[in-house]
Parts: sequence; structure tokens; C-alpha cells
Amino acid sequence: MRIVPGRTDSVIVVGAGLGGLSAALYLAGAGRHVTVVEREGVPGGRAGLIHDHGYRFDTGPTVLTMPELLAQPLAAVGEDLDDWLSLHRLDPAYRARFADGSSIDVRPDVDAMADEIAATCGRKDADGYRRFVAFLRELYRVEMPHFIDRNLDSPLQLVGAPLARLALMGAFRRLAPKVASYVTDERLRRLFSFQAMYAGLAPAQALAIYAVITYMDCVEGVYFPEGGMHAVPRALCGAAAAHGVTFRYNTTVAGIEVSSGRARAVVTADGERIPADAIVVNADLPTAYRQLLPPGYAPRRLRSARYSPSAVVLHAGSSTSFAGGAHHTINFGGSWDATFEQIVERGELMSDPSFLLTTPTLTDPSLAPANRHTYYALFPTPNLDPRRGAPIDWANEGTRYRERIIDTLESRGYQGFRDGIECEHLITPADWQAQGITAGTPFAAAHTFGQTGPFRPPTLDRRVENLVFCGSNTQPGVGVPMVLVSGRLAAERITGHLSR
Ligand SMILES: Cc1cc2nc3c(=O)[nH]c(=O)nc-3n(C[C@H](O)[C@H](O)[C@H](O)COP(=O)(O)OP(=O)(O)OC[C@H]3O[C@@H](n4cnc5c(N)ncnc54)[C@H](O)[C@@H]3O)c2cc1C
Repeated sequence: MRIVPGRTDSVIVVGAGLGGLSAALYLAGAGRHVTVVEREGVPGGRAGLIHDHGYRFDTGPTVLTMPELLAQPLAAVGEDLDDWLSLHRLDPAYRARFADGSSIDVRPDVDAMADEIAATCGRKDADGYRRFVAFLRELYRVEMPHFIDRNLDSPLQLVGAPLARLALMGAFRRLAPKVASYVTDERLRRLFSFQAMYAGLAPAQALAIYAVITYMDCVEGVYFPEGGMHAVPRALCGAAAAHGVTFRYNTTVAGIEVSSGRARAVVTADGERIPADAIVVNADLPTAYRQLLPPGYAPRRLRSARYSPSAVVLHAGSSTSFAGGAHHTINFGGSWDATFEQIVERGELMSDPSFLLTTPTLTDPSLAPANRHTYYALFPTPNLDPRRGAPIDWANEGTRYRERIIDTLESRGYQGFRDGIECEHLITPADWQAQGITAGTPFAAAHTFGQTGPFRPPTLDRRVENLVFCGSNTQPGVGVPMVLVSGRLAAERITGHLSR
């Protein structure tokens, strides 16, 4: 592994997103003097919070998996996760509702899930599910140490027994047919392959290696922190501050000073120069190369990068409750491959939407006034990459799409959704673009094979010897578990290997 040469006593982390907070904790644990410089007034980045009329809306991730990856950066400074967060394991992890009116609960316990499948889809698929779980467990066992939790500078590092093992397991086949080889019911096939969307791909296109995401949520379980998802960055930040990390909020980094192949300082929008021995950038990687570094440093691969689809999220504070609700409900439309074709390939809005409806107040009622709920309706949409056709103009489309979201909810069993709304916020890809997030997608570069592992931008720049990256556009990739790992990988570029 390449590491930063020379002095690394003082480190600046640009951005207090989950990736930056993780890096800061590992670095502080290894004795570095760390300053986090954050543009906003609060930590969390995409894991943000809107407070309105007594409602608290998490604006980013809602599906929290792999809490041990959250525990590890805290352990790096000697802290215990349980002292900072109260996590509830959700059961069901998801409720899936299908166009034919049926539903299947994803249970976090394998035996309970096998019973659920036997009752809804038959004994044969319950047996197939158990074999699928065995495949997923093995996939995770092989992938995590060798391909995910590791800095990769060259594809040659992958060659060896683990790669051969993955090939033998069929992990380089396409995801959809791989899942179909275990279960026959079309609903289960969707339920165990839709996670490809988290990696920015259609299940029919994604490789089966990405079933590791299915392992994380469907086998390891989905969690929810008391106080909402924004409690996660608050906890990481609180622990980091308690262990000597300095936080500079409301401070935008406008540039990174580079000379003789080394980053020397960050310069803030107010003109302040803050020197450091090493700089970790958690801000969006392509934007950082474009806006913070001198011209000519951006890796060539960024020019042809392909980005994941984006999403529109409608947050609604409401007086209406729906019978039989679950914390997370995935509402599948009738169409499937055509839906991915629309949002991934053709840049169109879904004509027969599949969407996620999250109701956090079912787990933590304190997130809304008494007898009220917060609803988070996430509808996947195309991103705003202009190289893939004319992007949707959300300034015009936003209001229309809000109506379409509510009409869809009303027609899919959430009658009264419109009338119950007491306060609302609509977030569109244009909002993420305005925050400097490339292609207006909070889900980063898609995990195509050519943008994964050693083919994704490395955490250590190739020309600026002490410029390190973390976050979803570097290795290992997108999502809360991955950016937490990216924080460790970034720290290891500075400290050398940390104990696992
Ligand atoms: C709607 C939505 C739903 C999601 N759902 C899930 C989910 O259910 N499960 C899951 O695992 N993941 C989910 N994700 C993805 C997950 O949230 C992200 O992958 C992760 O939070 C990204 O973290 P990050 O550290 O890479 O970046 P960010 O959170 O973007 O952090 C970057 C930080 O850098 C700061 N910054 C930027 N530029 C500057 C500058 N010039 N100067 C100073 N500071 C700067 C920003 O303000 C920000 O705080 C979701 C994301 C969104 C938005």
C-alpha cells in the first residue's frame, strides 16, 4: 500500500460527512492532531436533518446496516458505540408490497425469514433462500477483507485465491440470474436484487458480487438509532471532539495549496490559510479536483465516469397514520426491467414507480409532535449528468412531480396522504447539485465493474503525495458502511495499517 511520506503530525479533514468523521476518529486514535473544516453549521453532510414545526426529518440515509462498522471508528479512540447511540434492530427490516396486492416481510432472523417465505412463496423457495444465505455469507467473508476493507492501488493486488474463490462461486455472473438460481418466485427475485440500485445499477446488469449489499441488509439486519439517523454523525462528531479533534464549522474550503507535489494548506473562502502535514478530502471527489485543486490534477478516468441514478425525496409531517405500516416499506410497481431502463439508461422518470416509504416515527415517536408521523418517500430518478442527454429541469418539474408522488401514494394504499400533510419538504437532484455533488446524485459514481475496487479513484492521490480522499466517490464506494470504511482506508494512507 502506498502511504504518505514524511511528516503527518497535523491533518486537516475537509468535510464532516460520515466518511470524514470516520477518518478523523481513526487519525485521532493514531495520535494525529486533526482539524475538521466543514462548510455547514452541523456535521453529517448527506446525513442531514430538517427541523420544522416540531417534526425532525432525516434528509439522507435511512437504511442503517452493519453497526460494527460504526463501532470501529469509535473503538479507535477507545469509545463504545452503546455509550453514544441506542440502536434498534428493525423487524421487519423491510415490508415489501407488490403490485398484485401481496406483501412479504424481510425478517432479520434467517429461520423467521425462511418461515415467511414458506408461507408466502412455498417450501421450495424457503430452502432456496437458505442456500442463498449461505452464498451471501461466503461472499461477504471473501469480499470484505480482500476487496472492500483494503486500499487497492493496482488490479494485480486482486489476483490470488480470493478472486478464484469468487469466480468459482459465480460472483462474476449477473446478479439477477444468480438470485434466480436460488428462488423461483418473482417477488423474492426482486426483493433480493433491488439492492443493486444502491450501487447505481440495474439488477440485470450488476454483477453478483454486489449481492454483498443484500447480505448487509437482508441477513445482517437494518437498524435505526434513537433520535433518527442524524444522531449517527452527531455521535461520531461528539466522540471525535472528546478525543481532541477540532471542528471548524461554517468554514468553506475554497482551495488546496499544492507545491512540489505536496499539499501544504487549505485556504478558506474568507482567505484564511490553514497549514497541515496531510489533507484528507471528504468533499465530493470530482468537485474537489475541479474546484479545490489547481488545474491538471484530476485523474483522466473522471472524464468518462458514469454516475448512479438520483432520487426525489418528499418529506411529509402528517396527522395521518396508515394501518399495517412498517418502518421501511418498499412499494414495487408492476414493471421491473423497464423501470431500470427508464431511469438508468433513458434518463426518464418512472412510469410505473417502485419507491421506498419510510416512517421513522413508528420506531421513534419523538421525531414528531404527539399523534403525528414523519414520512420519507424516496422515488429514484435519473441523475443530472448532461453527457447522458438533456437533464430534467427540476425548477419546472418539481411541483408536478410532487403531485405525481402523492397521487402514486394515494393509489397504492396510502389514501389520505395528501390531506394529512401539515408540513413538507421536497428535495430533488437539483438540490444535491447545488451542494456541489456531481451529476446531482447523492449516490456517487455507479459501481460498474470498471468503477469498483482498484478501478475506482484511490484514497491517495497519485501525484500529490499527501492528498488523501474519503467518501463515496473513492474506494470502496457508496453508502454508510462503505464511507465509514473509506475513512479507515484514508487514515491508513497516513498511519500505515491499523489493527482490524
Ligand atoms: C436521500 C439519500 C438516501 C440515502 N439512503 C441511504 C441508505 O438508506 N443507506 C445508506 O447506507 N446510504 C444511503 N445514502 C448514501 C449515504 O448517505 C452516502 O453515501 C454517505 O452519507 C456519503 O457520505 P460522505 O462522507 O461520502 O459525503 P457527504 O455526506 O457528502 O460529506 C461531505 C461533507 O463535506 C462538506 N463539504 C463539501 N465541500 C466542502 C468545502 N469546500 N469546504 C468544507 N466542507 C465541504 C459537506 O458539507 C459535507 O458535510 C443516501 C443518501 C441520500 C442523500
